[in-house]
Amino acid sequence: MNRRSLLRRAAALALLPAMPRTVRAALSENAPARRVRPSDAGWPGEASWAQLNKAVRGRLIKVNSPMSACREATDGAACGDLFKELKNPYYIGDNVALTQTAGWVDAWESQPSVYAVAAETTGDVVAAVNFARDNNLRLVVKGGGHSYLGRSNAPDSLLIWTRRMNAISLHDDFTPLGCAARQPPQPAVTVGPGAIWMHTYNAVTTKGGRYVQGGGCGTVGVAGLVQAGGFGSFSKNFGTAAAGLLEAEIVTADGEVRVANACTNPDLYWGLKGGGGGSLGVVTRLTLKTHALPSFFGAVSATIHAFSDTAFRRLIGQFIDFYADNLFNPHWGEIVNLRLDNRLEIRMVFQGLDQQQAQTVWQPFFHWVNGSPQDFTYQLTPRTIAAPARNLWDPIFLKQHFPGGVLSDDRPGAPSDNIFRSGNLAEVGHFLSGFQSLWLPASLLQSDRRSGLVDALFAAGRHWPVELHLQKGLAGGSEGAVSATTDTAMNPDVAGAFALAIIAGEDPPAFPGLPGHQPDLEIDRRHARAIGEAMSELKGVAPGAGSYFAESDFFERNWQTSYWGQNYPRLLSIKKKYDPAGLFFVHHGVGSEEWSADGFTRLAG
Ligand SMILES: Cc1cc2nc3c(=O)[nH]c(=O)nc-3n(C[C@H](O)[C@H](O)[C@H](O)COP(=O)(O)OP(=O)(O)OC[C@H]3O[C@@H](n4cnc5c(N)ncnc54)[C@H](O)[C@@H]3O)c2cc1C
Repeated sequence: MNRRSLLRRAAALALLPAMPRTVRAALSENAPARRVRPSDAGWPGEASWAQLNKAVRGRLIKVNSPMSACREATDGAACGDLFKELKNPYYIGDNVALTQTAGWVDAWESQPSVYAVAAETTGDVVAAVNFARDNNLRLVVKGGGHSYLGRSNAPDSLLIWTRRMNAISLHDDFTPLGCAARQPPQPAVTVGPGAIWMHTYNAVTTKGGRYVQGGGCGTVGVAGLVQAGGFGSFSKNFGTAAAGLLEAEIVTADGEVRVANACTNPDLYWGLKGGGGGSLGVVTRLTLKTHALPSFFGAVSATIHAFSDTAFRRLIGQFIDFYADNLFNPHWGEIVNLRLDNRLEIRMVFQGLDQQQAQTVWQPFFHWVNGSPQDFTYQLTPRTIAAPARNLWDPIFLKQHFPGGVLSDDRPGAPSDNIFRSGNLAEVGHFLSGFQSLWLPASLLQSDRRSGLVDALFAAGRHWPVELHLQKGLAGGSEGAVSATTDTAMNPDVAGAFALAIIAGEDPPAFPGLPGHQPDLEIDRRHARAIGEAMSELKGVAPGAGSYFAESDFFERNWQTSYWGQNYPRLLSIKKKYDPAGLFFVHHGVGSEEWSADGFTRLAG
């Protein structure tokens, strides 16, 4: 054993007195150097799998990928049908073998596990965790399946699939376990780890008349988003999804079922709030705070085309001035895109204002644009709409009033509330050429730094489109949102950022090696380079800024600091306490530096 492993072992042993007895027992002095694959002699035999199947009451699945239809007959009808379904996020989500992202050039390809436990109870999860640990298997956890970075799939693994654990129940007066003396009861929602946001919003807002802070994309899983941190349109007012977590139930590597909240296992609770899914255990239940619903939610959209580069630079400058002076507050969120052909796309949303108030806010900006017809034209004329907040995720209302804005799960017999935003269609089943993000500090909005920011945005937009996600950064947000988010494991940069800049490229569903459906890897690599060049321009004005665990570069350097900043050492010590042998591994997750990239081999220290 060399010096580094000795130190690591000593650090883990130093934690022993603080550890629960069962966790101590799980800390193996001889943590396995390599997990087993089906080709290894140590892979469990049929009888062992049958035992697991019995323990999970028949919920063990031998996984077959639907892609085999295409391998057998590339041009066959079954393959054609499959590729149509790969644009339906509910089809993908309901398939044990698939993930929402098909892959990423030179990074990862979606590959099914060998076996999966389609868990329906916490007991099923316990059985699967114990089986994986005792048989030295690579374990994967999948909920909504929306990891861009491929964290919920791995070949040669056992998958715990939580899709069926999707119950949702509302509470008027929820008190976390052991917190009766410290916290007054409050309204909340409890969801299973397989629940997705669209169904959760429908239950909480449409049916319950309350608000819960979740994500923007309705088919993302609740458990994955909360553990990532999680931003939605109105995060500037309500904080991150992680900030709203009141309590979780989690199965840790020793097979124990633990409750984590501010009063019981508070370290685990803090780690689950933005520490990244798939690293600390399997979450089997989450309870999130709900808020009073604002009267209206609304949106402002416009697309402005500038006739020259000079005019586009001026337009970006005007928008940043306008944003800093008028929109940098808890009312506003969502996205502004800078497109390659000198187009500025405004797709913003608001809460806490009515339609007239929102129009009044934007009037000076559009007045400025209208004043230079020689420089600008609208490709989408400005539009402000507002609707009663209760209708924002109401499937019946949306299908009736915004038929172009939502799409439905079109499988025969699909539930009528299986809807998704048409704006998310391009991402369904996509293959990524690149994806990078950067938190832009609010100091860039100070008047003496704005022109540097505008130059960098303009320069970045020469290489590749830049998206400014203005809700993914808490600066300018409400005091409650900022303070609750600060008490999570996310990079503290989040509190001081006004936006998350995302620069990404995607193709329709494609699979390397699948004849007739392969991505063009050379083009993707070219796009990846352009994405990197664009991001370098932004890094020039925000050196050292972090990026978002869930929406970031697969090849992120210094990911520990980038995702978690000064919080990383604390997170790592929590990981060591509850999963000392490293059963839970995800790409660039807490503690993953001790493993090979595929999560199979523990690296020599
Ligand atoms: C189309 C799309 C839109 C997105 N929009 C947003 C957005 O608006 N805001 C935002 O903040 N993010 C967004 N994201 C990122 C998203 O929040 C994260 O990828 C999130 O982790 C996905 O969760 P999931 O359950 O759907 O995914 P999965 O791929 O199932 O899981 C993601 C990670 O969490 C782990 N995990 C899942 N369930 C559990 C569990 N029960 N216990 C322990 N670990 C678990 C998995 O192992 C994996 O590591 C988006 C992603 C996509 C693909």
